[in-house]
Amino acid sequence: MNNNNIRVRFAPSPTGPLHIGGVRTALYNYLFAKKLGGKFILRIEDTDQNRFVPGAEQYIIDSFNWCGITFDEGVTIGGEYGPYTQSERKDLYSEYAKKLIESGNAYYGFDTGEELETIRTEYESQKKTFVYNADERKRLRNSLNLSEKETNDLLKEGTPYVIRFRMPENEIVIMYDMIRGRVEVNSLVLDDKILFKSDGMPTYHLANIVDDHLMKISHVIRGEEWLPSLPLHVLLYDAFGWEKPEFAHLPLLLKPDGNGKLSKRDGDRLGFPVFPLQWTDPKTGNISTGFREEGYFADAFVNILAMLGWNPGDEREIFSLKQLTQTFSIERVGKSGAKFDPVKAAWYNHQYLIMRDDSELADLFMPIAVSKGILVEKEFLIDAISLVKERVNFVSELWEQLDFFFIRPEEYDPKAIKKRWKADSYDQMTELKSVLAGITDFTSENTEKAVKQWIEDKEYGMGAVMNAFRLIIVGALKGPHLFDIVALIGEEETLERIDQGLHEIGMKE
Ligand code: GLU
Repeated sequence: MNNNNIRVRFAPSPTGPLHIGGVRTALYNYLFAKKLGGKFILRIEDTDQNRFVPGAEQYIIDSFNWCGITFDEGVTIGGEYGPYTQSERKDLYSEYAKKLIESGNAYYGFDTGEELETIRTEYESQKKTFVYNADERKRLRNSLNLSEKETNDLLKEGTPYVIRFRMPENEIVIMYDMIRGRVEVNSLVLDDKILFKSDGMPTYHLANIVDDHLMKISHVIRGEEWLPSLPLHVLLYDAFGWEKPEFAHLPLLLKPDGNGKLSKRDGDRLGFPVFPLQWTDPKTGNISTGFREEGYFADAFVNILAMLGWNPGDEREIFSLKQLTQTFSIERVGKSGAKFDPVKAAWYNHQYLIMRDDSELADLFMPIAVSKGILVEKEFLIDAISLVKERVNFVSELWEQLDFFFIRPEEYDPKAIKKRWKADSYDQMTELKSVLAGITDFTSENTEKAVKQWIEDKEYGMGAVMNAFRLIIVGALKGPHLFDIVALIGEEETLERIDQGLHEIGMKE
């Protein structure tokens, strides 16, 4: 399906690393556009120069590249409606602010920072909060209270000013949200937000609305934290006489215990990342870890985010990005906050890990083996990984499951010795050596058959022999099927490990 009228955007401000909530917002926009054959746009909202952080924009781009989320238009790609960075569109916003002044929907505010601060302090001393609203504006220094001449003189003299929205005095603002339905608010509780700042830059509100209009955005899908701005945005569209896009405000991502929003600061504190990629703060040099660096697969990460706030309406949980584009619908996005569950996140990674083929896992594990000083053939790794991958969530956890394939036991778990090394273990293991040495084709099946036959013939205890055997081969009572291990390490290594074990553990006193 190709629907040129569907146009959505992700509009981050480059003020730091992208929080996973932001990635989820972008993902839902992407899925919405892809499902309906529309366009997805990346716009950088960098009008707040004080909050600009070098490297943040590149970080955002790198994060989406990692996730496989692509844009049809935007920064680095270009497109018909560019430029897509607001600071490069700077000149056009003042024209729109002026239009609002002309139509009586905005006004010049000449109050200085100090003047406003004085009023604020005065209010605070009376336990009140100062809000620049329809009531207060009547006694402040702005073009609503000045004559046209006074205003023009101030402007001519170069007096610093801001442009504020003239909030209607007592009006019910009616809004529609695709997730929440009809929402109403009385304009009495809203303030006269600044649209244009004294530094010649628009604020988020003005730039956002102007750009959404000029870029023909049909649906605004964004985080719930923007819901309080919706009345102003709706009123701005009306003031300009523009058709409004549809709005959808996505539920918040919550901390694992459901107590509050998952914030940028939570990441390393709660023991899991909140950023897609590692981020180094350019000012402090502080490093925050990312999902990629913690060993999450990009497709697992996307799947995890997709399920935080959306569900397919049935029991399915595993979705590739492609499957998501077919299944996603905004109607199935919930209203209530979605708790981030780190255990479930690791479970998702496990699902994607076991779906990977062993050769790919071997390539991913190889650098870990090398860092441990192990030189190993890829074929050997593939076989070893196939035996243990069910037991791990992350590639980094494989070492713990695999080390004994490469390194002979350096010690033997004392607790296991105490419990499992019996009075006759020494003799049985010595006998076992000759049983194994007699096997011509040292496969898992052949060794298992021969060893079990021998145990039966001798009427030994199956458990006792197998535990002692495992202790000698692995050094502890862990690991996959023992005959798979010995087949993989081979006859020679198996026999040598038995010799070493007999020597090290010796006879039970
Ligand atoms: N620049 C805003 C942000 O940083 C965009 C909000 C919106 O999508 O309207 O999230």
